[in-house]
Amino acid sequence: MTHQLPELPYDFSALEPHIDARTMEIHHGKHHAAYVAKLNAVVESNPELQNKELIELMKNFDSLHISEADKTTFRNNGGGHLNHSLFWEIMGPEKEIDEELAERIKSTFGSVESFKEEFSNAAANRFGSGWAWLVDSKGELKVYSTPNQDSPYMQGDTPIIGLDVWEHAYYLKYQNLRPDYIKAWWNVLKVLE
Ligand code: MN
Repeated sequence: MTHQLPELPYDFSALEPHIDARTMEIHHGKHHAAYVAKLNAVVESNPELQNKELIELMKNFDSLHISEADKTTFRNNGGGHLNHSLFWEIMGPEKEIDEELAERIKSTFGSVESFKEEFSNAAANRFGSGWAWLVDSKGELKVYSTPNQDSPYMQGDTPIIGLDVWEHAYYLKYQNLRPDYIKAWWNVLKVLE
């Protein structure tokens, strides 16, 4: 089973002006493509990683019997592939509100606004490269961030919303102003108002 770069479900320019076309083109076509290529290379040299669902492998990351170097490669690139595949899907040029999710968020965080504040803080305060997440953790909604390309599946959680705060996700347009990127990103997150 070879992992493949998913097609972007919209044009590179579809998320303008919030995320610029050049960033989308490099992010999808270079960064995500590189994670897929490196993932396939480590899968090819480790039978234990073959013919299994990536999510299942990631959930069982701690018990993989492969070399430490390959584990690191798998963690970074398997996580990178999963994280970006979700990221493209939850964004879009038009809102497609998930009412059920909005209700769950309201009952957990009080309001969509207070959820956004907590999530934005997690994204802004992640030191260096990483992701902010809204996850389902054993039936409960939680917000946190992970470093690098670590996937929430590694801790048994299911990611629902993820925001890439690597500089490659925003540097061309926003330079060092990560908070401005986070603020603008809510406009292209299609599942919430
Ligand atoms: Mn990225």
